[in-house]
Amino acid sequence: MQLCRTVAEVRSLRPKFARLGFVPTMGYLHEGHLRLVRRAKAACGAAAVSIFVNPIQFAADDDLERYPRDLARDLALAEAAGTDFVFAPEAGELYPRGFTTRVDVGLTEGAENRARPGHFAGVATVVTKLFNIIQPSLAVFGQKDAEQAAVIRKLARDLDLGIKIEIAPTAREADGLAMSSRNSYLTPSERAAAVVLSRALQAAEFAFAQGERDPAVLRARALTVLAAEPLARVDYVAVADPDTLNPLSLPAERILLSLAARIGATRLIDNTVLG
Ligand code: AMP
Repeated sequence: MQLCRTVAEVRSLRPKFARLGFVPTMGYLHEGHLRLVRRAKAACGAAAVSIFVNPIQFAADDDLERYPRDLARDLALAEAAGTDFVFAPEAGELYPRGFTTRVDVGLTEGAENRARPGHFAGVATVVTKLFNIIQPSLAVFGQKDAEQAAVIRKLARDLDLGIKIEIAPTAREADGLAMSSRNSYLTPSERAAAVVLSRALQAAEFAFAQGERDPAVLRARALTVLAAEPLARVDYVAVADPDTLNPLSLPAERILLSLAARIGATRLIDNTVLG
């Protein structure tokens, strides 16, 4: 496995691979990331992983500085999962002085977009750059970040990128907590409390399986579970169309139920698609 630090290194390596599957990450890799890598490798015969904590998708009061980083560990995990090369640039390599362009897909109605203004323009901008640098045949993203998945699918379609986008299911810990690099922030008692996010989703899934289709009722089921956990502070619980991200008020057969909550100082997100 090779480590590329510059765009030029990637460009000289890229012709070695006929088809290439790509997994963009912010590093501190876990099993959720590695499943995406194995999928990319299986589909294309070669896999590239980017490791880049993208400053322009963080707001001033976000966790950019303390976001966990461990490149040596990441490289070992990526290699064991079958990665052919890792692209891990410094911020100045992607954003030299004078960089001003933003890619904005305009999916504005999503709850995460409302909670983090500018976040998805930062994501769409870096992913567009990474796609242009890596030139993958396929890119694999996680359902864990449902709104991001919708943004990337729309980006690829609207701009005719010619890259297949695949969304892989959310990898979870044994108790149901969605795997996330940010889980490393949690104290033991916070880690125990964090399971409330997936429990809240399960309550809505149970109601949906019983025939409930009213988005307000399904949302209320999730909220009730979250409210019972003293360490959790709800940011939002949202019911939306999985593709347009528009909020739903009428009964529907496909509902994206997504939520964000703070457990102590750590903001976690999770979601499920009902139907
Ligand atoms: P991140 O490093 O958090 O930016 O995530 C990089 C990619 O891995 C994104 O496509 C995420 O959606 C995906 N991902 C993160 N956590 C999980 C998970 N628990 N299950 C599946 N995919 C995930």
